[in-house]
Amino acid sequence: MEVKVGNARIELAEGDITSQDTDAIVNAANRSLLGGGGVDGAIHRAAGPQLLTECRTLGGCETGEAKLTKGYNLKAGHVIHTVGPIYHSAGKKAPELLANCYRRSLEVASQNKLKSIAFPSISTGAYGYPLEEAAPIALKTVMDYLKAHPDIQLVRFVLFGRDAYQAYEKALRDLAKKI
Ligand code: ADP
Repeated sequence: MEVKVGNARIELAEGDITSQDTDAIVNAANRSLLGGGGVDGAIHRAAGPQLLTECRTLGGCETGEAKLTKGYNLKAGHVIHTVGPIYHSAGKKAPELLANCYRRSLEVASQNKLKSIAFPSISTGAYGYPLEEAAPIALKTVMDYLKAHPDIQLVRFVLFGRDAYQAYEKALRDLAKKI
């Protein structure tokens, strides 16, 4: 599924984010930025050991913030590492922190003149954010950013598995009705 927001596109795809050829892919990392399981582990395996070497120089990352590295062996030239909220510990702040991840990642992309960016579904794996709650926050935050920042041309959500894809598809249909 795909929608236009001004001159930009939001695309939903089911698949593996490590094979994307966008200018940047986003990593749902942990605060250490020193690797982990899930999408983080997959990105480090595909990028090669130089990614961890660069991450060690960054001094970690706060929840809701984002930091840039090169992409090394990935097709994507860059990785934007962001740290999602842990659903059960973030409490009432979870939605705002999750939105910050998407907004800050896009700001880092803009600052570095990156025009296409692929996101995973941040926080909906080990960090326990329910897909049905996370999807509308992710999509609305990206949509609002694209309306205000026409420099970004493509945002692709790369969703791992049917359930994730369907949750995002439903949320995007609901949001697109309101444009
Ligand atoms: P978090 O700790 O932010 O919850 P996870 O990596 O555990 O991060 O999960 C985030 C989302 O990424 C989950 O929906 C998970 O299914 C998905 N995921 C895992 N591997 C990949 C991959 N290779 N490409 C895209 N998404 C992935």
